[in-house]
Amino acid sequence: MIVGLDIDGVVADFLSAFLKLLETRLGNGPIETETIRSFNFKDHPFLTEEIVWKCMEEVSYNPAFWENLSSLISLEDWSRLEELSRSAKLVFVTHRHVRETYSIDEVSSNWLRRHGISRPVVYFTQEPKGKLVQDLGVRLFMDDRYENCQEVAENSQALVLMPHRTYNQDFHHPRVQRIWSFQELFTHMEKLNTPKPCP
Ligand SMILES: [Mg+2]
Repeated sequence: MIVGLDIDGVVADFLSAFLKLLETRLGNGPIETETIRSFNFKDHPFLTEEIVWKCMEEVSYNPAFWENLSSLISLEDWSRLEELSRSAKLVFVTHRHVRETYSIDEVSSNWLRRHGISRPVVYFTQEPKGKLVQDLGVRLFMDDRYENCQEVAENSQALVLMPHRTYNQDFHHPRVQRIWSFQELFTHMEKLNTPKPCP
């Protein structure tokens, strides 16, 4: 069984680093992660879609930004992922932008290697992820953005897990399972691997 994981917001702490950058650009003081209730920022007291997209573009050209992201998961989680990866059962699927000025593939793979994934397999796409997830034969998929979760749930056979975040808290979908800790991935894996008893 192949497991597919998004990177940012699932294993890498994109948001904290991104909010720090926004803080320095805006000079309005700290921006708490809890205030981010959606990625269109429509309801935010002072963040606008325009400034956010400007910073998104800025970081997409900055390899150091991605190199320095913190991990969201534990050492034990990483070592269990490495086991999966060694048996060719783990892929990462990300919307990180590919730029001509540096290799985001290399930067992302090095980051994953630093966390113990010896031979990471990473797919970069700007398309919706569902078709790729289906074509790769991913059976269990995790993403923090509810838009991606919904699209993958509706366009692939994968069971979709969505880690709880403030910006996805209002989303519900019958085929998307909200999880509260990353370890639930392994519980779901075991369940899927256990043959169902004959009726
Ligand atoms: Mg993400």
